[in-house]
Amino acid sequence: MTWSVKVLRAGNFRLDGGSMFGVVPKALWSRLTSPDSSNRIPLQTNCLLLENGQHRVLVESGYGQDWDDKSRKNFALEPRTVKDALEEIGVVSTSITHTIVTHLHFDHCGGLTELDENGQSRRVFMNAKCIVQQQEWMDAQDNRSTMSKTYLANNLSPLEEDLELVDGQHEVLPGLFVWPTPGHTWGHQSVRAHTKTGVVAFLGDVVPTVNHAPPAFSMGYDMLPWDNMKTKQAALSQAMEEQWQLVLAHEPNNPWVRVIDDPRSHGRHAFEALETE
Ligand SMILES: [Zn+2]
Repeated sequence: MTWSVKVLRAGNFRLDGGSMFGVVPKALWSRLTSPDSSNRIPLQTNCLLLENGQHRVLVESGYGQDWDDKSRKNFALEPRTVKDALEEIGVVSTSITHTIVTHLHFDHCGGLTELDENGQSRRVFMNAKCIVQQQEWMDAQDNRSTMSKTYLANNLSPLEEDLELVDGQHEVLPGLFVWPTPGHTWGHQSVRAHTKTGVVAFLGDVVPTVNHAPPAFSMGYDMLPWDNMKTKQAALSQAMEEQWQLVLAHEPNNPWVRVIDDPRSHGRHAFEALETE
């Protein structure tokens, strides 16, 4: 059984360009993307809707709607959620059977919850279990992060109602896999689905935009920068050999790419845009 894939744009936002490129000097990264007057660069929260005729799986969910004005301004959060993106294509939230998140930072799992009329946080996808690595869940519960406000209790506690914690590679449904890709967090996972046109993979924050292909171009937000570099090289090598199509988590322009050998630096990876939508 094969999967169909749609990319959903759950809302654009901005983060500090220096933080997004870690050890890479601004003189280099600012040639690739233009920072605004607050040094922030444009980003998107891309999600996937996977369907196989029986199941509807949402991969990632963006930052959601539970934000005060100050945070909205700081991160330039677009007033939009993954629920809006689904409604635009006629998909109601109760029809989602599974949700998968690469990790539990607010910009990936925030759209799985919303505030009810009493200001209580509740699940958005009431009929969907949430699939996450056990390691990631434990780290989020303990708030194990160098950032103080990236694991948010409001986003996490409602998910306990229907949580599937997995440990390592796991076939979620036939032809749909998650596997560990540590580095951004210890328990970060990636997702790949078998489609009519081959494998489509979502690598989350392993490689957030088209400008993060070179080995050193990792984020300052990574808990384990060395591990993320090694994870990225391995994932991009496999993606090139097996001709995967990738959807990049935070790419603000076309997020569909394939991996090629970098024409300017043989042995390294580069991305080529795909026209799939
Ligand atoms: Zn992220």
